[in-house]
Amino acid sequence: MLKTYKFRLYPTTQQVFVLNKTLDVCRHIYNEFLADRRNAYDRCNQSLSTMDQLYQVQYLEFDTDVHSQVKQDVIRRLGKSFDAFFRRCKKGETKPGYPRFRGKNRYSSFSYPQSGFKISGKKLKLSKIGDIKIVLHRKIEGKIKTCSIIKDGKSWYACFSVEVKPKRSIEPAKSIGVDVGLNAVVTLSDGTKIEAPGYYRKIEDKLKRQQRSLSRKKLYSNNWKKQSDKVSHAHKVIFNKRSDFNHKLSRILVDNYDLVVFEDLNIRNMVQNSKLSKSIHDAAWGKLIQYTMYKAEEAGKIVELVAPHNTSQNCSSCGIKVSKTLATRIHRCPNCGLVLDRDHNAAINILNLAVGTTVKACGVEPLGSAMKQEATCFNRW
Ligand SMILES: [Zn+2]
Repeated sequence: MLKTYKFRLYPTTQQVFVLNKTLDVCRHIYNEFLADRRNAYDRCNQSLSTMDQLYQVQYLEFDTDVHSQVKQDVIRRLGKSFDAFFRRCKKGETKPGYPRFRGKNRYSSFSYPQSGFKISGKKLKLSKIGDIKIVLHRKIEGKIKTCSIIKDGKSWYACFSVEVKPKRSIEPAKSIGVDVGLNAVVTLSDGTKIEAPGYYRKIEDKLKRQQRSLSRKKLYSNNWKKQSDKVSHAHKVIFNKRSDFNHKLSRILVDNYDLVVFEDLNIRNMVQNSKLSKSIHDAAWGKLIQYTMYKAEEAGKIVELVAPHNTSQNCSSCGIKVSKTLATRIHRCPNCGLVLDRDHNAAINILNLAVGTTVKACGVEPLGSAMKQEATCFNRW
């Protein structure tokens, strides 16, 4: 199992120059070899394989000053995007999306797949680039497999993927269902509600203002560039806050429960509706599920995804369908008399779908005080 560690890099001005140049060379190679594939197919009806191109990249006409394995990795990336393209064609998608040429700002990372890098003290030694200052804010456990260098706005990061042995799986004694809502609220099957921080609206409004201002500027003018930087910064802030929230919440879930159950959001999107705002929400929640899954795997715990099946409509106690619109916030069952918060009812249904039995609302142990404390800290943003 692979785990990724991400660290901030602090390159000198000279090193930034070399890093940018390396990205440029990689992007150039990517585009060149993409064109080769295209031409071979268009003109000779032949397909070039990744193996062919891996061989060719060793004998480039121009001197690149880039580590050989980094160049090979570019070819593998290109190969992967073609594989994905062919997969989409096979599935019969109407717009399979042919791999594209990458523009100046569309290529932001390169990788050392095996060697050419080494951590030594507070420096990361990169072959052909130099010793870059790195802040190792946590200890790396396990064997480092690959090293990727990523440019994000004006910041640089190193990502190491590390081979770790997962712990032995334990029996799911404590289990929890999680309902992710439209209003940025997570509801657990024990009734706990965790609100995503209130900064959302504030930052999103700010972003909208910045974008409006950008659209009024003359394209590629100096002011446009300045404003464009501001917009990408706002995007970054939202992204960071959101992943911080998702990381904290997934950590709490994995630490407190042996089995965590979510709705499968991909299925939900397919069956339920086509509203864009909802799929954007689901995309953010998708990260929460993803983070919970890998943390659980590491801890030997289980995450299950269940097909959404009237989870918000059915009564979690007796099982009959109690139709309600989105505006109805309380579930009132005419059959058994259960009155419960709508999302709480849904979370119990989600849990029941996974464990196959009926967990009564009143029979669930409430969350420990430790978690309640943690849960409130989200609201302080
Ligand atoms: Zn009922």
